[in-house]
Amino acid sequence: MNFAPDIFAGRSAVVTGGATGIGWYIVRMLGGLGANVGIVSRKEENLVRASEQFKAEDGIDVAWRTGDVRDPDGIKKAIDELANENGGLDILVCNAAGNFICPTEELSWNGWRTVIEIDLNGTFNCCQAALPYLKNAGDGGRIISISTTGANFGWPTAAHAGAAKAGIQNLMKSLAVEWGGYGIRCNWISPGPIKGTEGVDRLIIQQGMAEKVTKSIPLGVFGDGDDIANAVVFLAGETGKYISGAELVVDGGAQWNRR
Ligand code: NAP
Repeated sequence: MNFAPDIFAGRSAVVTGGATGIGWYIVRMLGGLGANVGIVSRKEENLVRASEQFKAEDGIDVAWRTGDVRDPDGIKKAIDELANENGGLDILVCNAAGNFICPTEELSWNGWRTVIEIDLNGTFNCCQAALPYLKNAGDGGRIISISTTGANFGWPTAAHAGAAKAGIQNLMKSLAVEWGGYGIRCNWISPGPIKGTEGVDRLIIQQGMAEKVTKSIPLGVFGDGDDIANAVVFLAGETGKYISGAELVVDGGAQWNRR
């Protein structure tokens, strides 16, 4: 960690899906830099395990609530409670998502709908729920959505996730305009493959694609969770104060390697 240790002191953040994978790294980074962090996802066992680990290994108290981002009322209740417990809400990180590999010809309506509901509708629900708090954030609210470079080109065999993430990116552009007057900055990060995550495990390694994908990355390696967490800090901190409606790609240059 190369940031001043207290840059988010007095700030509060909610990270959806913050108990696992990329979200876990984002929570540890924000908490380590002084933010009061809350996490929300469906599985209580994940939330309890992560919050105990943050406390034991990093001395960070992380508040948690169970909630499904697809359920507008439920996620509003969870975000209300986390904001009340943590003294408001300055930074919303929309990270929760679902995905699986399936050729579109074989994709069921239920499969399509589920991913759109979690990724796109879930991001909308969280943004709406967070808005009253973000409006009151001391030096401006921030929304950071975790997208993917797959949204920028089409994503064969994951068209459902590609469409959902492209929708998220467009939502961030609209909110950057509509909510900019409230001082709220809305941006998104598009990670490439991040090692040690569910995404890489299921979508790349289990598909037998690890070697091929590694070769396609100009920098030659998968990213670390902290590469995404660093990008969140950059966008959420003073460093990002004039950035809104923007994409920050963190993929080792891979998206331009279309050979
Ligand atoms: P992950 O560990 O599976 O993270 C997804 C999180 O979302 C889980 O903690 C899960 O928790 C939560 N979640 C799923 N459905 C939910 C729902 N309906 N309501 C609330 N929470 C829900 O996967 P990851 O690979 O770290 O992915 C994190 C983000 O990065 C995703 O947005 C993904 O698209 C993006 N991304 C990842 C990579 C990569 O290399 N891993 C690359 C590009 C983009 P529960 O099961 O407890 O609900």
